[in-house]
Amino acid sequence: MNRREFNKQMLMLGIGTQAAFAKGNKADARIQLGSFYEEPAKKLPVRKFDVVVAGAGTAGVVAALAAARQDAKTALIEVKGYPGGTVTEGGTALHSFYNLWKAFPGVKKRQVVRGIAQEIIDRLMKVGGTTGHAEMSKGYDFDSVCTAIDTEIYKLVTFEMLAEAGVFICVNTLLAGAVMDGSRIRGVITESRSGREVFYAKAFVDCTAYGDLSAYAGADFSEPNDYPVVNSIGVANVNVEKYYEFLKSHDAVSQLAKGIRSGKNNQIVRLQGNLVKLPPGFSEQAGKIGMSTVTTTVHDNYFMFIKLNFKMPVSPTNRDEVAKAELELRRRQAKAIELFREYVPGCEKAFIARTSPKLCIRRGRLITCDYDISHEDVIEGRHFDDDIMVYGFHDFAPRFQIKNGATYGIPYRALCVARIENLLAAGMMITSDKRAHMSTRNTVSCMGQGQAAGTAAALCAGKNCGTRDLQYATLRDTLEKTGVYFET
Ligand SMILES: Cc1cc2nc3c(=O)[nH]c(=O)nc-3n(C[C@H](O)[C@H](O)[C@H](O)COP(=O)(O)OP(=O)(O)OC[C@H]3O[C@@H](n4cnc5c(N)ncnc54)[C@H](O)[C@@H]3O)c2cc1C
Repeated sequence: MNRREFNKQMLMLGIGTQAAFAKGNKADARIQLGSFYEEPAKKLPVRKFDVVVAGAGTAGVVAALAAARQDAKTALIEVKGYPGGTVTEGGTALHSFYNLWKAFPGVKKRQVVRGIAQEIIDRLMKVGGTTGHAEMSKGYDFDSVCTAIDTEIYKLVTFEMLAEAGVFICVNTLLAGAVMDGSRIRGVITESRSGREVFYAKAFVDCTAYGDLSAYAGADFSEPNDYPVVNSIGVANVNVEKYYEFLKSHDAVSQLAKGIRSGKNNQIVRLQGNLVKLPPGFSEQAGKIGMSTVTTTVHDNYFMFIKLNFKMPVSPTNRDEVAKAELELRRRQAKAIELFREYVPGCEKAFIARTSPKLCIRRGRLITCDYDISHEDVIEGRHFDDDIMVYGFHDFAPRFQIKNGATYGIPYRALCVARIENLLAAGMMITSDKRAHMSTRNTVSCMGQGQAAGTAAALCAGKNCGTRDLQYATLRDTLEKTGVYFET
């Protein structure tokens, strides 16, 4: 779907439809052609802010913190009951605060993402909510750092940080529209049990992952549908050491990292098995349900993430197809538990302790921004005259390695949503080239983008200017003062 089709569909959404895929469901899911209900116009209460951040996920939490700390009156709108987003629901661990260093002899290991992202890890560390920056001893060519988190502690810690920063936190609130004044967003429309409201602001940051705000604002986008959708599970009553022994006994350990687990250092915190080397009964069934054997953990008897993948036939913005995928993924979760119980010693009494509240995706809508980061930009380690952060990890390492153990820069332009005056985007919704996206979409990159977008939005609001009128020197200076690391 593109912008035009989206606008057409928005017109049709006044009609409630039923997902009629279940056997025996006689409800007619089709919208009757020419049948429309005209919603009466309504006066909505208005709230006024400097900055509105849409989506309290991986990037949005950091964006809201950054904006509020610049003294911008900031509202954060999140449809779920907690902050965190995909970092607590789909991702295995935070990848990677560091450059990739071992593949290039002589290159120094250095932490390239700092600022608020690191501050969150420091806060988690104090309450036993992370493994710390655990170095991979196998996988990614030994050349990465995996920072696993306790997903529930992450939600609480980030919630507390937002409250401390004075962010007006609207959870259980859906962003449902944009109020436009030409190419400028005047406000956003929200829905919650407190009713429908309008939030006016001077600057906006879209961190909804799917680019909902950008789409409502009329920005250009495409829907590549180039990744499977996933519902991950947390599996309890397992034995991490025995899972390791099981993989080892089949010479199948493909990823391994050690860090803090249940308060003790130097424990296994990340594991992955090579499916083809595992018993055929396990590997064939796991293949059929799209199960990944990678997991991380912060606790002795818990696998934090076991992922079940499903390739959707159409875009994951199609509600009725998503309903089918949600059911299919839950069937796959049940099957995954059966496999662990049957084949993996120490997991005989395993059970599902957590599921993603909804399916996760690595990319929904791809929003057109002023600059599109290319694969060459990433692997050549290019920097720009408007860098807002640097990053040094590629999900396909060692196949795609950033040259010379270096970093590349994410330019401010890559966050400016094309044709909209006062809207920035951060997170998985930017970067069209899939190979480049395999780097920019990673959690730690999204968090860095969030810090830059939130800071820029606050500065724009303070100066009452559009995103393109902000002086780069001012943004850079503020980012440096708030702990962001640069290499050029
Ligand atoms: C299965 C899977 C595994 C992954 N594994 C890793 C990994 O191991 N390491 C790694 O670094 N990265 C990994 N990633 C990538 C990474 O997790 C994501 O790219 C990143 O977390 C996306 O961050 P985001 O801020 O763009 O979106 P999100 O974190 O998803 O945040 C979006 C937020 O917006 C909210 N929202 C959306 N629409 C609305 C609306 N209309 N109104 C109000 N709120 C709304 C959502 O509820 C959500 O909280 C993985 C991704 C997936 C899907």
